Amino acid sequence: MIEIAVAKGDGIGPEIMEAVLSIFKAAEAPLQYHFVEMGKWVFDKGIGNGMTPEAKATIEKLGILFKGPMETPKGKGVKSINVTARKTWNTYANKRTFQTLHGVNTVFSKAGIPIDLTVVRENIEDTYGGIEHQLTEDVAISRRIITRPGSEQVIRYAFEMAKQKKARRVTCVHKANIMKITDGMFLNTFRKIAAEYPELNSDDIIVDDLCMKMVTRPESFDVLVLTNLQGDIVSDLCAGLVGGLGFAPSANIGDNICIFEAVHGTAPDIAGKNIANPTALLLSGIAMLHHLGLTETAAKIENALLYTLEQGIHTGDFGDKSTASLNTTEFASKIIENFGRQPKLGAKTAEPDQPVTVSVPELKENLLIHSKEPATKTLAGADFFIDSILQPDAIAAIAEKFSTKELPLINISNRGTQVWPTGSKYTVLVDSYTLRFEAPANGAITQQSIIDLYSSLATAFQITSVETLLELNGQKVYSLAQGQ
Ligand code: NAD
Repeated sequence: MIEIAVAKGDGIGPEIMEAVLSIFKAAEAPLQYHFVEMGKWVFDKGIGNGMTPEAKATIEKLGILFKGPMETPKGKGVKSINVTARKTWNTYANKRTFQTLHGVNTVFSKAGIPIDLTVVRENIEDTYGGIEHQLTEDVAISRRIITRPGSEQVIRYAFEMAKQKKARRVTCVHKANIMKITDGMFLNTFRKIAAEYPELNSDDIIVDDLCMKMVTRPESFDVLVLTNLQGDIVSDLCAGLVGGLGFAPSANIGDNICIFEAVHGTAPDIAGKNIANPTALLLSGIAMLHHLGLTETAAKIENALLYTLEQGIHTGDFGDKSTASLNTTEFASKIIENFGRQPKLGAKTAEPDQPVTVSVPELKENLLIHSKEPATKTLAGADFFIDSILQPDAIAAIAEKFSTKELPLINISNRGTQVWPTGSKYTVLVDSYTLRFEAPANGAITQQSIIDLYSSLATAFQITSVETLLELNGQKVYSLAQGQ
């Protein structure tokens, strides 16, 4: 028996989890469940991170969590438990597979275009951290954190997975033409790792171009690897290509702990009615069985699912509306009835089960991942964000008084567009400006110079934030203002 943690979730979670576990039971999957408490009612009890200490301890001991969707209470200032779980346990790769399912009609299946896509979404970083601040009454900012070692972990996983599945193509999706430093780091990391896998075709595409091509020629893609937010959006697009969220499974892969869950949420509009489609959670469970070496059990269930779908059997959210839909429990029973039957298309064959032993190492301290080659770092200046409704020239007249030879004011921008020393009267301003003080070429400054400048600027302006300007190995690693 392999011991795993199970959290039933909120909304439709308990209904679809019950259906899936009934299928596992009928298939005699050698799993032993430890039910843990996470989600809405844990928040309601006042536990701010959405999981009980016992749940955390069980998951950290067993290493596998199979979970139903969980609600993030609105307006309580708490973070999503789904995101907290992925980030706390460093499940750095979110793998989502999307394939044409015979019996689930889409424009592509009707046109005879098969879809078989795997999206590997970075799972820890990006704006998904929800690290946000309001700087002024009118201006809010969000931090987009992309790291080299974090990118390396997810991209290496994508290549290893692509190699295993003999993928036709691995594509890095990005917006590095605009976000040159963050997406640029992700893309450069992809190119570096791609060179280690010469046997695999690898390329890259800008995310907007990908979206257009995805709805015109989805069959030309195979494995996609993306940063967190773009991956979130693109994977829902992919779900739409194969019939909707009811068919989108996901696996959150980490080195120690893995979480298997459906892509969809708690579907509050249909919760408690026993009409939800359990397929996405079942497909996530099948991915978990594969992960645990239970490939024969996985194939038995998947073949029965595919056969059931081929028969036109459906829940209310998909399929032929002229035929009656089954409820969640009836749909699960049909799959069980169809054990041993082979679908006409996509039948799975598998070697006998070889259960793996999941062991989570006991850690004494946190693992720190960092680049091995130290860079030469030079402090070149600072961007000061200020709250002001003065005109740019008026701000410059004050700020220039604080300029020094070592650290002069070189420009002022508003919403990222330069408005001083040159700019356009047609640029519309808001109440937050950025003043850039930058050392002349090859000049280096100290932290103390920035602190001194902060102190003097603060006598004249309300400073809302400061970013230091860095050079790494002589290269400026900060963006220019638009029009600079
Ligand atoms: P949702 O995915 O719950 O629902 C979107 C639509 O899809 C609804 O019309 C719903 O009825 C339908 N739907 C979803 N799953 C279905 C299924 N299995 N069968 C049939 N129809 C299904 O998205 P939402 O309404 O934006 O979010 C509701 C809650 O879920 C929110 O609290 C959100 O934070 C949470 N959520 C959790 C997860 C997760 O646990 N990983 C993911 C997304 C959203």
